[in-house]
Amino acid sequence: MVYYRPGSLSEFIGQKRIKEELFIYISSVKKRNDIFPHTFFIGAPGLGKTTLAKIIAYELNRNLKITSGPILDKTGTLAAVLTNLKEGDILFIDEIHRIPKPCQEILYTAMEDFALDIVIGKGNTGKTIRLNLPKFTLIGATNKPNLCSAPLRDRFQLIFKLDYYTDEELRDIIIKVGKTWGFEIDKNNALKLARAGKGIPRQAINLIRKLREFILLNSPCSSKGYGKISSEEFDRFLKLLDIDEWGLTSEDRKCLLTLYKEFNGGPVGISSLALSTNISTEELETIYEPALIRLGLIARTRRGRILTQKGYLYLQKKYKLFSSNKALCLFSN
Ligand code: ADP
Repeated sequence: MVYYRPGSLSEFIGQKRIKEELFIYISSVKKRNDIFPHTFFIGAPGLGKTTLAKIIAYELNRNLKITSGPILDKTGTLAAVLTNLKEGDILFIDEIHRIPKPCQEILYTAMEDFALDIVIGKGNTGKTIRLNLPKFTLIGATNKPNLCSAPLRDRFQLIFKLDYYTDEELRDIIIKVGKTWGFEIDKNNALKLARAGKGIPRQAINLIRKLREFILLNSPCSSKGYGKISSEEFDRFLKLLDIDEWGLTSEDRKCLLTLYKEFNGGPVGISSLALSTNISTEELETIYEPALIRLGLIARTRRGRILTQKGYLYLQKKYKLFSSNKALCLFSN
């Protein structure tokens, strides 16, 4: 399978403010031939945290070691990873919030003093030995920053919160990825696909991957590439995936319909909605809900999620669930 990943800061689309800041830090670290500051990326899965870590390493010409929180479940494992680092290396820990507290504590001195405190023996006879570590950069990534201890968060000098992408940014990513994979998608069609991408590059790229299979199956062209995709072909593809003119997928509609039918329009808690839709809480929280909120179809209140006027109107238009009189009543309240 071919993966797409922008290799340099200039190739990375979106996250303008983060890119501008990173450019400044990368340039100054290069000039001073220094260690890049410890950096914390916060954002939903698929927004580009790993990609940015790879770009930092590429731009600085440094080694990047990638690991993740669930693997670092024992102090010994973390100590082995840290002692294997070389001066200037970048250690990327994905899902850093999943590192157990005792291991998180090891990171405090590792990040601040570039040292590892090892306790040998137990009780009164136990003593602590300090091992020096090479100067390195830690890049942590998470979508649950609250689950990281405050002392760990405080030790990151740079903290970036990645936003969901605009439809136009995803459209540009789609066009670029399409080109890399040998087919051309025009701006209008790319925008239709972008709307279904939920503001997340990984979702958008998954859709292009499906589009590629669809094109290959339906109009196999030369081995050089698949050429330009016609609007008819494109619309057939959207229909096949059940993506409507709003960019809503069957999962989105399932959320709206469940809110309407089973919870009377809400408010409903996320776990009840997850149970009824059979979509995981994690996916609801990071993929579907943010997109539906951005479209103004649902809203988050203190008591739970509710269907908005716009949400009712969408269902009315799509499914004629209630008479237009009832719809009018609902909206005039
Ligand atoms: P995360 O680490 O936040 O889960 P990744 O960095 O693994 O996300 O990105 C997921 C996918 O989306 C990768 O294939 C990556 O190349 C792509 N991607 C992420 N951000 C961008 C971007 N700004 N431009 C183009 N592709 C991107």
